[in-house]
Order: sequence, then structure tokens, then C-alpha cells
Amino acid sequence: RQLIAKEKPEALQDRPPVVTILGHVDHGKTTLLDAIRDTNVAGGEAGGITQHIGAYQVEHKNRLITFLDTPGHAAFTAMRSRGAQGADIVVLVVAANDGVMPQTREAIAHARAARVPIIVAMNKIDRPDANPDFTKKQLAEVGLVPDDWDGDTMVVPVSAKLRKGIDDLLEAILLVADTLDIKANPEGRVFGTVIEAKVDRAKGVVATLLVYNGTLETGDIVVAGKAYGRIRAMFDFRGRKLRKAGPSTPVQIMGLNDVPDAGELFLVYENEREARTVVEERLQQQQKRLASAPKISLEELFNKVQSGEDHELRLIIKADVQGSLEPIISSLNELGKGGEIRINILHAETGNISENDVMLAAASNAIVVGFNVQADAAARRLAESEGVSIRLYDIIYRLTEDIEKAMKGLLEPEVKEVIIGHGKVLATFRISKVGVVAGCRVLSGEFRRNAKVRLRREGTIIYEGEFASLKHEKEDVREVRAGFECGAAFKNFNDIAVGDEIECYIFEKGS
Ligand code: GDP
Repeated sequence: RQLIAKEKPEALQDRPPVVTILGHVDHGKTTLLDAIRDTNVAGGEAGGITQHIGAYQVEHKNRLITFLDTPGHAAFTAMRSRGAQGADIVVLVVAANDGVMPQTREAIAHARAARVPIIVAMNKIDRPDANPDFTKKQLAEVGLVPDDWDGDTMVVPVSAKLRKGIDDLLEAILLVADTLDIKANPEGRVFGTVIEAKVDRAKGVVATLLVYNGTLETGDIVVAGKAYGRIRAMFDFRGRKLRKAGPSTPVQIMGLNDVPDAGELFLVYENEREARTVVEERLQQQQKRLASAPKISLEELFNKVQSGEDHELRLIIKADVQGSLEPIISSLNELGKGGEIRINILHAETGNISENDVMLAAASNAIVVGFNVQADAAARRLAESEGVSIRLYDIIYRLTEDIEKAMKGLLEPEVKEVIIGHGKVLATFRISKVGVVAGCRVLSGEFRRNAKVRLRREGTIIYEGEFASLKHEKEDVREVRAGFECGAAFKNFNDIAVGDEIECYIFEKGS
């Protein structure tokens, strides 16, 4: 917003509104996003191949609307936490048979904090137990008084499943958009936000960017957080090559040197040197912050232990969520107590292990420890060339046990995680006594019954463990190869959903 304020008012033009869909789990966010995309993708291409790149655009009455395609408020809050507005309009999905639920309230709080107007999609009106009046009453109680009750919240009845009411919803979005000041300068400074990013084996770092201002072009030099690079190729959500992308356009780009975080701001720079300087400065600042951060170590031991390098075990810890970092840090602190060797946690943060973590580890002779996270391909490469040890865990006591061994100098040779297969959940079945079984397709590599398995939803790891069973056409099998479907159950885990991504991996002893 501050950057937009720098643009000359006369240069500003209307841009498509950016919409995010929030709501309680199972109220139909994903179904609604699919319904909107399938029924309204411009140019009669409905049913064609659209890719999930984190955002898409539809056309209604010759106007474009951009939808963030990551249901739930993860993407929205990631952007907000980095100062971006996240979206111009929130569509709040409320199932008419279930009404206002805890996550509905949470979503309202998020939208209000961001000062983003809310349109309610009252979903599942096809259900016999739908109760629109009761739902409206509940909405009014939380401050969303429906416009047909003289309030100022548009409540649009829809059935995402039957694809009813979608046009009315799009109409409502455009009406609300017209009351807002949704503008950008297509000729201005190019910036926007990172919607999602990942490493693709073949393509390298692939990032979806949402342009807010200016026009992004192939060949531009982009800085996003600690990543930078020249855009080698740019695609829209249909996988079509693009040369230019104006305001509110989501694009998938290739060419960054690292994986930026979702929600991060991106900016285009004049030349590569300038971009590199910006990134290097950011890295230096981060290192400074780390150096000045209070070290989580044990003063009482400092005096006892010789100050030689060998008496300190330096760690960089990456974990999936803050909730796992805390117990890890406190149990490591416990370990350090009374031992001969100090534990010095140089850096502890949530997120995957990146090249930057490895650089820091190399510079300070530290070990990188990951809990429920992965090491990016670039990070793994760098670790190999720098001789940095990366250790991945999914159970806290294994982690502390290993660190304890490391402190005693007993650690076995490093083991490396090797991903042997990727796949996707296509359907779920509840089977009595067994639990939930996922119908999956192996997309690359293979699934092995005895290998480890990990599930991701919207990029976040939601399960890490082992198969409870693996079947192909009702037969128990030891492996399933790419291109085949299988039925999989997971040990002690039933919260599987269609669209979840599956990674099958093994641990191999390093050289
Ligand atoms: P999300 O968790 O909010 O993304 O919800 P989903 O889109 O996954 O939907 C949850 C369940 O509700 C699925 O079984 C959908 O098929 C079902 N569902 C979604 N929309 C509708 C609808 O309009 N009518 C009915 N009857 N079921 C729906």
C-alpha cells in the first residue's frame, strides 16, 4: 500500500479485484474454488488443463476476477504478516446446514483486522437440512447483517456442489469491487507478492507471483525475500507461456536462485548486480540479528567447560511449526545441562531448510537439524559441497537422542533422506475397523510399503509416518509405480483429504 501511494494518482487504472476464500473446514471452500474455476475460465477453455499454481483468474461480464486458490487463511495471513494486504475482498463460505462455526469467526476476525470487506457465500443450500434463515440470524449476530435484512453484507446463496449461484457470487464480487479503490499503475514500479514457491526437480525453483503494480516481463530481475534471479520463463495458470503480466495477474515464474516464502513481497530491479546487493544486505542483516540474539546456552557451564571450539555443539534448528520448536529447544537446553559440552543454538526458525541455513551452518561450523521439514534441493546441494551435516527428524526424542550421541561423539554416519515417489490423494473412503483409506495416484517414482511417507496439504506437512497398508486393486502390494493407482492407509492417521500430496521417502546412509 505504501508502494502504491508512491504512484501518481493520474497513472492509476482499475485492476481486477483479488479475492480470497475463507471459512470453516468442510464448509466447501475447495469445492467452491473448483466450481468457480471450472465454470468461468475465460475463452471457453473450461474443462481444459488448468494447473493449481495458487491463484487463477475468471471472467465475468468481460471483467476479470483473481482468486487465490489456497483455501484457508494460511496464504492470507502469510501475506498480512509481511505487510501485504492479502486480498481486496474476502468471500466467507458458510455452510447453510452448519452455520457460523469457530473458524468462521476466526476468518471474520482476520478479514476485519485487514479491513477487507466480506461477502458471504451461503453454501450447501441444496442440502435438505440447509437452514438459510437460521444461518442469516447467526451471521447477523456476528456483525454480518445480510443486505436483505437491511444490513450491509451481501449474502449469496450458492451450491458449490451443484454449481448454482456462482454467477450471483461473481456479480456480488464485482459490485463490492466497484465500491473500493482497486487500482494500480500498469506502467509503474513492478511489485507484488509470492503466492507459493517450491523446487521442481526438472525446472528448479518455481514460484507463483501475484503482480500488484506494474507489468512483469520475461527477463526481469526479481528479488523476493532472500531469493533473486532473472525470469527465465513465465506461465499463466493454464500453463501457457506469457511474456507480460499486468496488475492482479498471477504467474508462475522460473529463474529464482532460492525458494522465497509465501507472502513475501517481490520487486523488480534494474540489473542483477543491484538485486544481488539487496539480497546480500538482507542476509547480512539476518546474520547480525542472529549474532546479537541472546544465545540459548547455559552460563553456569561456560565457566566450567574449556572455551575450545570442540566443546560447543552449534545447531541451526528448523521445524514445521512454532509449537514444535519450543519443546525441541527446551529439551536441548536440558541436555546441555551438566554435560561436558555446551549446546549453542545459533538459529531456530520455522520453515524448510534453505540454502541460507546451510550457508550459516557452513560459516559457523554448525549442524542443521530439521524437524518435520525438508531440505530444499539447493540446500542439499550446498550442504554436500560445503560438508555441512543436515539431519532430519520426525520424532522429538530421536532428535534429542541423536544430539546427545553427537555430544558424546558417537554419532553414526549421517543418513540422508531420499524421496522415492510423489503422489496425490484422489478420493477417501472410511472403512470400519480400518479407518480412512486414501485412493491415490502415484505421479512419479514409486510408493514402497516399507518406506516412510509424508502428507502435505497446501504445502504444509500434516503427517509424517508410515503406511498402515498399501493395496493395488484390493491386493496388498510391496510397491506401486508411477501412473498407477493405489489404496493407502496411514499409521495412526485418518485426517486425509482429497488433494493431499504424498511423498514417499527412505533414509540412505551418506558416504
Ligand atoms: P473445505 O474444507 O471448506 O475446503 O470443504 P470442501 O470443499 O472440501 O467440502 C467439504 C465437503 O462438503 C465435501 O464433501 C463436498 O463435496 C461437500 N460440499 C461442498 N459444497 C457443497 C454443496 O454446495 N452442497 C453439498 N451438498 N455438499 C457440498
